[in-house]
Amino acid sequence: MAEELNPFKIAQKQLEDAAEIMQLDKQALELLKEPQQTVIVNFPVEMRDGTVKTFTGFRVLYNNARGPGKGGIRYHPEENLDTVKALAAWMTWKTSLANLPYGGAKGGVICDPKQLNDKELENLSRGYIRAIANFIGPNVDVPAPDVYTTPQIMAWIMDEYSKLKGANEFAVITGKPLEVWGSEGRFDSTAMGGMYVLREAAKLKGIDLKKAKVAIQGFGNAGMFAMDLVTKLFGSKVVAISDSKGGVYCEDGLDFEKLKEVKAKSGSVQNYEGNNVRKISNEELLESDVDVLIPAAIENQITGDNADKINAKIVLELANGPVTPAADAILWEKGVLDLPDFLVNSGGVIVSYFEWVQNLQAYYWTADEVYKRLDTIITRSFNDVISTQKQYADKGKKISPRTAAYIVAVSRVVATMKVRGWIH
Ligand code: GLU
Repeated sequence: MAEELNPFKIAQKQLEDAAEIMQLDKQALELLKEPQQTVIVNFPVEMRDGTVKTFTGFRVLYNNARGPGKGGIRYHPEENLDTVKALAAWMTWKTSLANLPYGGAKGGVICDPKQLNDKELENLSRGYIRAIANFIGPNVDVPAPDVYTTPQIMAWIMDEYSKLKGANEFAVITGKPLEVWGSEGRFDSTAMGGMYVLREAAKLKGIDLKKAKVAIQGFGNAGMFAMDLVTKLFGSKVVAISDSKGGVYCEDGLDFEKLKEVKAKSGSVQNYEGNNVRKISNEELLESDVDVLIPAAIENQITGDNADKINAKIVLELANGPVTPAADAILWEKGVLDLPDFLVNSGGVIVSYFEWVQNLQAYYWTADEVYKRLDTIITRSFNDVISTQKQYADKGKKISPRTAAYIVAVSRVVATMKVRGWIH
């Protein structure tokens, strides 16, 4: 039988696995297996030639027991409801694991942003937000960037929403540019959070990061900053990197500034040249002989087909959903420390939370304050996961970091739903 790759089925399966181990009662599982609210919108967008095209968008509020929905917006040609539902579920576990006063949500528009010019992108973003305006708000559901959406897009969305409400509504969305009261440190917060987790994981595994070889899949907002930070903070060597077109490998390490230049000029990191540099495919990148593998692109990259070929000691899931349940089991069996997405990449939403708090108070923090607070929260999440693993091990049950993270996150959501009287 072919492996299940539907992200929402995967999210449900992960939840069911954790539910069984934590002996979650049926009423809670039933409620948490589906999103609370799913919105599908079709809206008009004026194109560059003056014609009007209809686009389809989604906004899923998965659960809001612990606070307003929170989660990014993706622009992708293959966007679909099940992917958005899965990502909304993962946001619920992400905010809960970090113990933020939020629920989980996600949005998306089916479009190819690479084919749109700036004006079309602006029209699309304003149109999408007008269509879902009744379902978002600083105390309702707070969007943010995700795959192929940028701080500029967040600024347009904030502006359009503010016009609709007749007031400056900065706290309606996070990941904004600093000019419209984004937060210091938000731009590289996803990668920075991942680095704090990596620091703790390396301590646990006895790996000297100064001598570590690293491979990174993806050169977007997460992967690009991860490359910069892992070299700057720890002195590790990034030997492999890729984007959607393919990748490059160099045993002596790749140069960040040069890669950025090549990407900007030619559109792909694959055109990086130099001594000892060779082109590799995305599959080869994942299988390279490194200490740390950082999938920082999209879902379903490490599957039942290639998991046994992973050579890394640590897999740091900076993307959402890069490892399937079948792969999870194989990595666990092999003794690879696979750290789950909703722990590793929670730095983005943690600093989004700081941005929202700053917007609501209209009082702003320095970058130093932001990074320090991020470190405190994400290190606490890491320790919660490891101590939950230990608690279960003491009871004779060996569970993976992902299952442990689910147990922490789901327990909190369930406890709140109980106190609110949603379930008994
Ligand atoms: N899109 C990011 C994520 O998947 C950030 C979400 C947010 O900041 O709300 O975590």
